[in-house]
Amino acid sequence: MTKINKNYLELKDSYLFSTIATKVSEFKTKNPDKEIIRLGIGDVVLPLCSSVIDELKSAVDDMASDSTFKGYGPEQGYLFLKDSIKNYYKEFNVDLLSEEIFISDGAKSDLGNLLDIFSKDNVVVIPDPVYPVYVDTNIMDGRKINYVNGTFENGFLPMPTEDLEGDLIYICSPNNPTGATYNRSQLKEWVDFAIEKKSIILFDVAYEAFIYDDDIPHSIYEIEGAKKCAIEVCSLSKTAGFTGVRCGYTTVPLELECDNVSLNKLWLRRQTTKFNGVSYIVQKAASGVFSKEGRIKIKENIDYYMENAKIIGNALDELNIKYIGGKNSPYIWLQCPGNMSSWEFFDYLLEEVNIVGTPGVGFGENGEGYFRLTSFGHKENIIKAVERLKTLKF
Ligand code: PLP
Repeated sequence: MTKINKNYLELKDSYLFSTIATKVSEFKTKNPDKEIIRLGIGDVVLPLCSSVIDELKSAVDDMASDSTFKGYGPEQGYLFLKDSIKNYYKEFNVDLLSEEIFISDGAKSDLGNLLDIFSKDNVVVIPDPVYPVYVDTNIMDGRKINYVNGTFENGFLPMPTEDLEGDLIYICSPNNPTGATYNRSQLKEWVDFAIEKKSIILFDVAYEAFIYDDDIPHSIYEIEGAKKCAIEVCSLSKTAGFTGVRCGYTTVPLELECDNVSLNKLWLRRQTTKFNGVSYIVQKAASGVFSKEGRIKIKENIDYYMENAKIIGNALDELNIKYIGGKNSPYIWLQCPGNMSSWEFFDYLLEEVNIVGTPGVGFGENGEGYFRLTSFGHKENIIKAVERLKTLKF
């Protein structure tokens, strides 16, 4: 008899976004005239910039002609895109080789797929609260998880302790959902810890493009020693509006070893076996992100979201609501006022001012009593939302 992977039965149903959708739809049915503003969604609203669209169109044209048509490409990605990424990293004084960069269809797939090359016996360290994919992908493999606590006191930036055990360590900076960012010295502590314990860090920088402060690294490889202990996963989803186009990249340094085996070689073997690469059209579009014109336009888009974040932050300041994030991140993580739980605050905002956010408890136990707002919206809606927020009394 065929057997299933029983670990899947251990997964908790993800009620977060379905419960939000149900609550919003019930509210709409009861209050058809009310206009709801969504500040909860982690998806971008601005369209692709012109340099990306131009590349996309010319790649489509390439496919229409005998001389420029492309079939299967290299599984790890086209050199033209890897070279652009290599040059981008130079801005952070990080030198990468083309063989160290693997083009993907987004960070989520790679975060899950990377686990293929690690033993299921490894113990993993995962911050709480955090992007739920890290937890679920490890439950699917049956790995033991040690949570490290993010709290208001530590700025939602848990640090390693001597007694912490973990072979694989997840770090997400800027963090989803808290918007917290590790600075250089904090990351150095994690890198030193990983080297000492012979652990591997999986560093998720899906939001690096939102970093404005010089003290916050865009890449873990800005930290000495990181190439000996870290894999970095990045995405163009939030950087350049690729949530629907799908493209990201993962870096596995050549010098990174585990069990005396090159992880770059293992990952290459895994990818060439199970993945046939990202489409030429999408990779051409991605190259438009790194062109001179693309960089300017993308910065404008990120400035737009960060201006939104500032508008939300200023309103929370006026309301005396404590929060973190919103500075080097599109996410604002607030402490629910009046000791409300995450879901109480959700209901309160929906009923009173018709604003939808995301209950923090959906990202881990330590998220209880917290709430995530995002700056991914059109400015006019953000302004309208904060005017409504300011009418609240706590
Ligand atoms: N990592 C983090 C922290 C995220 O928040 C997200 C998406 O929300 C992803 C990875 C996945 O990104 P992608 O769209 O590239 O799969």
